[in-house]
Parts: sequence; C-alpha cells; structure tokens
Amino acid sequence: MTTALALYSGGLDSTLACRLIMEQGIRVVAVKFVTPFFGTALLADPQAYRDEVRRRYGIEVMLRDLTEPYLRMLAAPAHGYGKNFNPCVDCKILLMGEALRMLAEFDASFLISGEVLGQRPMSQRRDTLRVIERDSGCDDLLLRPLSARHLPPTRPEREGLVDRDRLLAFRGRNRTPQIELAARFGIEDYESPGGGCVLTDPNLAKRIRGLYEEASLVGKIPTAADIRLLLAGRVLRLPGGAWLVLGRNEPENDRLQTLALPTDWLLNLRDDPGPTAVLRRPATLAARIDAREREEQDLAAAATLVLRYAGKSCRARNRAVVRAETTGRARELATTPLADQVFADWHH
Ligand code: SF4
Repeated sequence: MTTALALYSGGLDSTLACRLIMEQGIRVVAVKFVTPFFGTALLADPQAYRDEVRRRYGIEVMLRDLTEPYLRMLAAPAHGYGKNFNPCVDCKILLMGEALRMLAEFDASFLISGEVLGQRPMSQRRDTLRVIERDSGCDDLLLRPLSARHLPPTRPEREGLVDRDRLLAFRGRNRTPQIELAARFGIEDYESPGGGCVLTDPNLAKRIRGLYEEASLVGKIPTAADIRLLLAGRVLRLPGGAWLVLGRNEPENDRLQTLALPTDWLLNLRDDPGPTAVLRRPATLAARIDAREREEQDLAAAATLVLRYAGKSCRARNRAVVRAETTGRARELATTPLADQVFADWHH
C-alpha cells in the first residue's frame, strides 16, 4: 500500500489535504511538528492528541519535537522575518526538510501539505512555494492536494500513485471551498484558521526577539528553557536584571512549577492563594561581580510583585509573607505590595 507523510498543523487545510489523499486509498501518516512557538502544550499528553485527531478526523497523527533546530534557524532565517519575528518561509523549509528525512522511517513515497496557493501573502505565493520545495530538498516529492491543479504535476502524480484528476484547484483567501469540502467529509468541529504561531503576536514576538538580541551579545542563542519560561505567564524584567514570570491562572501556575530550573527561585504566598512565580537570572548576567547583591534586590522586588498580583482580599491587608525556594535554600520574605507606577516600565 502506498504511504504518504503529511505535514499536519491541526487546521482545516492540512486535515482536508490528508482526507483527500486517504480518499484515494493511500495510507497517510500525519506529523505535527512542535516547538515552543506552536503545539508545545500537546507534548504534555501526546496520546490524548493522537486519540483526539483520530476520533475527530480519522487521521493517524504523531508529534515530533523540533525545538533545537528551530531555535537555531530563528537566529538567522535565510529568507528573513515577516511582520513580527515569524520566519515563515524558513519555518516551512525546516519542517518540510525534516519531513523529507522521515519518509524512509515510515516507508512513505511522498509528502503532502495543506498549503493553498495565494492564501497567505508571504509564504504561499507561487514563487515562494517553489523556493520552499527547492530549499527543503523536497522538490517534486511534495504534493499540495488542495491547489495541485494550479501547480506542475509532482512525481507521485506522474508515477500514477495519485490521481491528479481527483485533486483540487483551490486558490486565494476565500474559505468557502474548504468549508464545503469539510461538509462533504462530514467534518464539523474544526478550528477556525489562526493568524499564525506566537511569533506572529506583536508582544510575544518582541519578547522573543529581545531574548535573541541579548543572547547574541555573548555569541549564543536563547535556550529552550528560557523561551518556554518567557512564554508561560506575565513577564517582568526586574531592576537587577532577572526575569520574573507570574502565573495569571491555575494552569499557568502549574506550568511554572514544571518549568522552574534548580537554579531558579520559585515564589508563592505562604498563607494565601496567589500567583506562582519564577525568578530567573539570565545566563548573560551570571558572571557579574555584583550578582549576589542584584539577586537580593530582585528577590525583594519579586516578593512584592507576588503580593501585588494576589487576590483582592490578600492585597487589601497590605502585608503578606512570600515563600521563596531554590535548590538547597528557602526564604520567607515579609512584604507589602508595590505601587503600580513603580513597576510600570518593568513589563516585558
Ligand atoms: S506563522 Fe509560525 S508556524 Fe506558521 S509558518 Fe509562520 S513561523 Fe511557521
């Protein structure tokens, strides 16, 4: 039986691309790549995601973590960034190149993706689609079932593995054809198309860009641990140079617990419910001779901010004890909340 490997985003277009090829009696293995900027939460329970996609769409999917190569690429994407810090063309080249290397692992003959010609200004123009095929090494092994009839026949079409006449000629931003096709496949509960990953979000992109700029000063790229932390909650940069990340709700509080490194301080109110916070000194500051003094300064500021973002009743008392722990040490800091104007510039 012929097998195709699909680049799967979880959105409607890649779902439809899989189903169109499956409809031709071809086995499709879908791979969803994960980085700190997209899909990362799914790694908490990959089996639940597999079960969900199978139940909703009848598609066999797997997750692959591409964090490390992605972080290297993001430092200097050959085709540049989009409006924010999104390297869409290089992102696709990286993902498709990786999928190409996976063909042998799954005994697959070709790749498919849900791209639609002209749907996105930067990455889905005809010339860009060609650049992605070329630079990823996929060339004519990459079939885009939704727009195939606007594009030259690929190798699986020429070799008769796929019937080109049953492929489609979608083009542009109009979503009606996709919605009609979804109805034909009996697919009802699909996600509306998102605007992209967190690298397209102006605020988060600025935060990540800043992290890259700072790391480049010492000839490095940011670590995955730092990026995950800085995307995990409310972020402030304290006067001593440390990051303070505060949970805004229970899921964020739980996640921060899991993201804290042994060298971080983990803070909570001792006697009241409130945010969990992680205080981390960036590696770029570790060698400073006044590191200890700055840590004390930031710990005191962090404690007041934990109280500032606690519930109203706790804040109203104007005093609380914050417990701070790091490997081998624990402290209790009696604190009062900071006035908002004091830390207005600390938001990151
Ligand atoms: S929006 Fe994000 S995930 Fe999508 S192509 Fe661009 S960089 Fe990649």
